Amino acid sequence: MSIQKDKIVEMHYTLKLDDGQVRDTSDGREPLKFLCGHGQIIPGLENELIGLKEGEEKTVRVAPEDGYGKKSEDMIHTVPLDQLPREIDPRVGEKLQAQTPEGHMIVGTITKVRPENVDIDFNHELADEHLNFNVKVVSVRDASNEELAHGHAH
Ligand code: ZN
Repeated sequence: MSIQKDKIVEMHYTLKLDDGQVRDTSDGREPLKFLCGHGQIIPGLENELIGLKEGEEKTVRVAPEDGYGKKSEDMIHTVPLDQLPREIDPRVGEKLQAQTPEGHMIVGTITKVRPENVDIDFNHELADEHLNFNVKVVSVRDASNEELAHGHAH
């Protein structure tokens, strides 16, 4: 059976950045399990998995546009010090969570500290990065009706 929409896929993967740094890997853990075609993994990777069978390996290079996007100046916010949560130390590299108007939690990193305010960068940590995945398919099976209804693997 090969990977296509509505299949449950288990695979091992390693994600490297262009500098060779391993950013994430399933090595030593359970394989990643997901329902194909339902937005569970980044589209730039998922599209390249279509047609792979159990036991097959592939190296996939994903451009930022198909990964975590390009960095945007609009995602860097200047926030007055007195509006920072009390537990946050205003120093470069400090991370904090914020809620978007739509109610999503996003993580920001302080990138500049001034006497009155700080710049917080809410771009994804992997924005602007090429993602180099090495994947090995462990199993492919049909999704159950329940999994399809839920939109994820059980
Ligand atoms: Zn469920």
